[in-house]
Amino acid sequence: MRLIFEKSINGRKGVRLPKLDVPEQSDLPQALRRRKKASLPEVAELDVVRHFTHLSQRNIGIDTHFYPLGSCTMKYNPKICEEIANLRGFRELHPLMPLINPNLVQGALEVIYEAERQLCEITGMDAFTLQPLAGAHGELTGLLLITAFHKYHKHNKRYIIVPDSSHGTNPASAAMCGYEVIVIPTGKDGCMDLNLFKEKLSDEVAAVMLTCPNTLGLFNPHIKEIAELAHKAGALMYYDGANLNAIMGKLRPGDVGFDVVHLNLHKTFATPHGGGGPGAGPVGVKKTLEPFLPIPRVKKDNQGFILEENAPLSIGKVTAFYGNYGVVLKAYAYILLLGKEGLIKASEHAVLNANYVRARLKGHYEIPYDRVCMHECVVSAIKQARKGVHALDIAKALIDKGFHPPTMYFPAIVKEALMIEPTETESKQTLDAFIEAMIDIARLAEEAPEAVKQAPLTTPVGRVDEVRAARRPILKYLPRFYEEE
Ligand SMILES: *Cc1c(COP(=O)(O)O)cnc(C)c1O
Repeated sequence: MRLIFEKSINGRKGVRLPKLDVPEQSDLPQALRRRKKASLPEVAELDVVRHFTHLSQRNIGIDTHFYPLGSCTMKYNPKICEEIANLRGFRELHPLMPLINPNLVQGALEVIYEAERQLCEITGMDAFTLQPLAGAHGELTGLLLITAFHKYHKHNKRYIIVPDSSHGTNPASAAMCGYEVIVIPTGKDGCMDLNLFKEKLSDEVAAVMLTCPNTLGLFNPHIKEIAELAHKAGALMYYDGANLNAIMGKLRPGDVGFDVVHLNLHKTFATPHGGGGPGAGPVGVKKTLEPFLPIPRVKKDNQGFILEENAPLSIGKVTAFYGNYGVVLKAYAYILLLGKEGLIKASEHAVLNANYVRARLKGHYEIPYDRVCMHECVVSAIKQARKGVHALDIAKALIDKGFHPPTMYFPAIVKEALMIEPTETESKQTLDAFIEAMIDIARLAEEAPEAVKQAPLTTPVGRVDEVRAARRPILKYLPRFYEEE
């Protein structure tokens, strides 16, 4: 172990510090001073350069690998969108500028204004806020809006209804807003059980949150009926639109009874979800909820674009300034680049690709809720598990074959789940190569299950102790850690 990781050699130097130009004896209290020499790796500059360059090459990314990580939409995003977000006029703009002199930032404000209009058009909503920084943040914002709405109208509400196939952030966001969460089980068709829903619906329900398509990748054909029932009971409808690449240009949540929707720009609109980078979870609402939107809002008057802070019913700010402006800019550019026809094609290809994978894996893997899916498909390794090969083993074996694994063990309602999202940007050749790899692994699981359990064999580190890695992660340099072990 030590030979692989430890690069430090006693006495080796990577820097030459200038001569000390302050008194060596400082006034720092004794207790705050270092008692021993700092334990730092002793490496030359070249060692450091090679170390980080090698690490960067081990990184799996969309520019190097097929990355079917379900629900994350790890697709190819046009590089021109990055370039536009990086234009100096946008990048170097000070966020206080619009408050000091909006005349100098009319273009930047116009982007916010126009991006909001674009998203309204795509979703069928009346107004948008671009402030939320993530999908979950959008949910929280949306639920705060719903809470403000009910409070204003003096409605007495306690519950949020979510299906058990919803994204995990849905019940979490509802609980964070102080609601009690009613979870409705999934019926045989893979959708929320309609009868149980009707039983639980009451005038104390604040909202029904639907992940659509749900985490099984399935569209709920009853959403109109659900919305009508919910509205009759005085509840609002919340659409988790994180995976909008499933329906763009085909269905607008605002047209089928939804009052609030959040989108993940960092999935559908030219920013990848993975990697922990910045995201954006804009929230759209119907007219009745518009007065509650976060401030400031970009408005247009006859002078041009202005920031409006005056909104007595607003829930206030949900982030500093205006959200992740660069992410919004990429989305704005992407929408203009693709246009209406392009967005429709993107959705059609996303859905077609997922169904192609589903249809070709059928027979090799169990397909729970086997019907036409949307942008992703969920297969189960339950058949392979009987031979001792679990979803995790299949994921590891895929790494050896040059593919990033799909999402595993999610949704939780499917045993041994593998959630595959091929995305709209992959070619048939790539999909075929992935499918062949999956079929190969299924065959190996039958014939030599032990071999699958050895994977990955091509990576610098093989099977790690995942429990220990999670419980005791080593996130910083520990000198001679491996010797002590
Ligand atoms: C990704 C996702 C979210 C959460 O988005 P984050 O940006 O990760 O917070 C919520 N709902 C669904 C359906 C998602 O796929």
